[in-house]
Parts: sequence; C-alpha cells; structure tokens
Amino acid sequence: MDVRRHLPAVDVLMATSLLQELLQHHGHSLVKRAVRDTLDDERRRLQEQPSDTGVVLPALDDLAQRCATRLDNLTQPNSRAVFNLTGTVIHTNLGRSPLSEPAIEAMAEAARHPVALEYDLESGGRGDRDTLVESLLCELTGAEAATVVNNNAGAVVLALGALGAGREAIISRGELIEIGGAFRMPDIMQAAGCRLHEVGATNRTHARDFEAALNEETGLIVKAHTSNYAITGFTKNVPETELAEIAHRHGVPLMVDLGSGALTDLAALGLPYEALPRDTIAAGADIVTFSGDKLLGGPQAGIIVGKREMVERIKRHPLKRALRLDKLMLAALEATLRIYRDSDAPARDIPTLALLTRLEADIAETAERLLPAVQSLLDDIEVTTQDCMSQLGSGSLPVDRLPSRALVWRPMAKDRQGRERALRRLEAAFRSLPRPVIGRLRDGALHLDLRCLMGDVQEQRFLDQIDTLKTNYLQRQAGERA
Ligand SMILES: *Cc1c(COP(=O)(O)O)cnc(C)c1O
Repeated sequence: MDVRRHLPAVDVLMATSLLQELLQHHGHSLVKRAVRDTLDDERRRLQEQPSDTGVVLPALDDLAQRCATRLDNLTQPNSRAVFNLTGTVIHTNLGRSPLSEPAIEAMAEAARHPVALEYDLESGGRGDRDTLVESLLCELTGAEAATVVNNNAGAVVLALGALGAGREAIISRGELIEIGGAFRMPDIMQAAGCRLHEVGATNRTHARDFEAALNEETGLIVKAHTSNYAITGFTKNVPETELAEIAHRHGVPLMVDLGSGALTDLAALGLPYEALPRDTIAAGADIVTFSGDKLLGGPQAGIIVGKREMVERIKRHPLKRALRLDKLMLAALEATLRIYRDSDAPARDIPTLALLTRLEADIAETAERLLPAVQSLLDDIEVTTQDCMSQLGSGSLPVDRLPSRALVWRPMAKDRQGRERALRRLEAAFRSLPRPVIGRLRDGALHLDLRCLMGDVQEQRFLDQIDTLKTNYLQRQAGERA
C-alpha cells in the first residue's frame, strides 16, 4: 500500500469547517497555498518512512489544524513589534530607538504624499535634501554646516574618504574600536582608502605622540568615542581642544566620531554625562559624526556636522549619493530635531530619553501590578520581582547602569536538566507570542526588565498575552512528552 495516496485531496481539506472559516478572512489562493504546503510536507514525511507498516496517517482535523498554523505563519509579517525586556534600552538587534509620535506622523505623511525633498519651494528650482535638516542641526550643535547619511558607520567612511583618502589618518591605539558586526576602525579606514597611523599605547596616548606622528602624508587626525568599553586605571588621552590645536597647527583637520550623539545634557536629566556634539564642535573639531538612532532617539541616520568647507568636500564625494538618507528617515529626523529645538522637556517627548529617565519607583509599580497576574500562572515556574540594572546600550556609556525592576521567572524542577528544559520552553513560549517578549536568561532564570514596558497601553498589551503564553508553554511541554 502506498500511504501517500491516502492523504486527503486539497479540496477535501479546503472543505473542512476550519478552513472554510479561514477562507472568510483570507483569500482563496493563500489558503490553498497553505494547504498545498502542508500536504507537501506530510508527503515528504511519509516518504522518509522506511516501510508502510506502522505508519500513522494524520486525521483530517489534525491536518486542517496544521494548515491553519501554516496560514498563520504565512500571514505574520517578518518585521514584527516585540517587547524589549532585555534590560538594554537602545538595543541594536531590536531596532534601537522607538520614534516619537511627531516623528511617526511626519514619516507617514512623507510616505503617503510627494514631498519637497530636493525641490526649493521659494524659487521653484532644484533643491538639496540636506537643507531639510541642516539648519536645525547647525542650531543644535553650533556647527557651520551639516549633512546626513544612512547611518553613522556610513558617515565615518564617507568623512574619512573625503578628508583622508590616499593619506594617513592618525588615531590613538586606545580608540581602535570594534562596534559590532564588521565595524572596526582599522577596517573602516582601509575601506575609506586611508592609511592607519596608530599612536600611543592602549591605555595612554600623549600630545607628543600625535606631534611625532604628523608628517607630510597626514590627511587628518581622528578621535573615536570608545563606545562599548572603558579604559580605566592608569590612563591618559589628549583632550579635544588640545588635539584640535595640534591638528590645526599642522594644517590638517580633526574628525571626531562621537558614536551616540546626545543632543541634550544627560547629566541634567540624572543620567551619566555624555559628550555633546556642541561641546566637541566648540572644542575645535572640524568634523563630528554621530548616530541618529542611539541617544538622539531618532531614526537610523548618520549625522555629520562641522566646518562648511569640510562638509562641502564630504557632500561632493561620490559615496554621499550612495549613502543618502531617504525621505521617510529625513522626515522622522527633522521632526525629532524639532523636538530638541522646541520642547521644554525632551526627556518626556523623546521616547528613548523617557525610557532612560524612567524612575525606579515607577518601574517597581509596573512590577507590582503585573505580579499577581503571572505569579501562579505556571505550576513549575516561580515568578518574583527583583531589583536589576538596565543598561543604555548601543555603545552609549558602557559602564553605567540604571536601577530598575524585573520579573524573574525561575523553573522549580528538582533536577538541573528539568530546570533547563523548562527555561528553554518558557523563553520560546514568550518568543512565539503574537507580540514576542524578549528577555534575558541569567542564573537559571528568565529576567524581564520592565523599564521598557512603559505606559498603561503597553502594560495591558503584555497582560493580554498572558493566557496565550500559558497555552504556548503547556503545548510545548506536551510536545516534549509525546
Ligand atoms: C554606534 C557607533 C558607530 C556606528 O553607528 P551606526 O549608526 O550604528 O552606523 C560608529 N562609531 C561609534 C563610536 C559608535 O558608537
């Protein structure tokens, strides 16, 4: 007997009540595709069986259910909102900064309609897309000129290429950073066509090291923010004012990659101090680059501010065209910058800053409200609230931590393997929710830092999924036993 022939026909499955119901919500072709794919899978599974004996054919209802799951997967967008309860506020893998409402509105407006992107409404002639944000950036940083590209990595490559291609770029050995992925300063310099000239030692670099390195091949001096690590102890680096003075005495520019680029004084908000582009410009840097979606709290972008003549050179570089920002990001960036210029309380109006400045007491209240709903949800998992520390993330202020509160989910099985299995199951159950919840595994427990679960709406959304979480968990558990 060829069991494969005994699988139901597509039409038979389509006629089941479950799929008939799904047909009401989804098009015929999509449902049919889910059915076909499910049957293909099943056929393949049966073909892999060594013989016909002992093969169990799935029941019709069971197959229909699998089609429904398949359909669900097909219709789920790949780009999905998640709860970032990892404790890292600006999380690169989770898309960094959530945008403010004005930025979202501006982006939607730009998406829906034609916009005056490179069109001068005064003269009716051709315009330059940078002008949408340039004057705001100059006002906020004190720079003479500004341009924007796709991200800060792009900004660094572009600026290095425009200012130092074919020449040497001098940088301290303590600043040869790797940001993650393939962003390593030495590689970036090479890609930009600069020759790396490193000076000093890992922990200490002196003004005289730069003086000694300067020669007729020097294109520029580079200073990079040591974003994701800190060198502490016996250290020395050259302040920007001094570095700028050395550079200018030798007729070369100083470029500073600030990384994060906070536009408001974080110390005044009770957060750790972070250098402002404005201070770096005032210190004499010719070009300063920073990200749009880190501490600035805007869309992904690389911002370049500085001396007019240098910015013009950067804008003329062919890579500028390849790295340019699109109209949606420009609209979001402009709206974000306007908040910094106009708002009395950027820490309230920029979501990233609101999350970072959220008070521990407020987070603790969220924890207390959620606890009763989850405390005895699962028989084999104990849930408690615990003090924890959030971090800023994305290479901002690497050593600083913000006091916060977490829901800690700890498996209670007696044996270690049982606890590990339960933890994996729990984590997967959270990840497979309609709005996946991403936490952090630590010390044999799942920690959900509640700093980024802010506001009634978010809290309710989290609670709305609790029953599904339980179902997911129990289903997985049953699947493991089977
Ligand atoms: C984050 C960072 C970058 C890269 O910025 P992206 O906007 O992610 O491209 C470059 N340099 C420093 C110092 C950074 O912190």
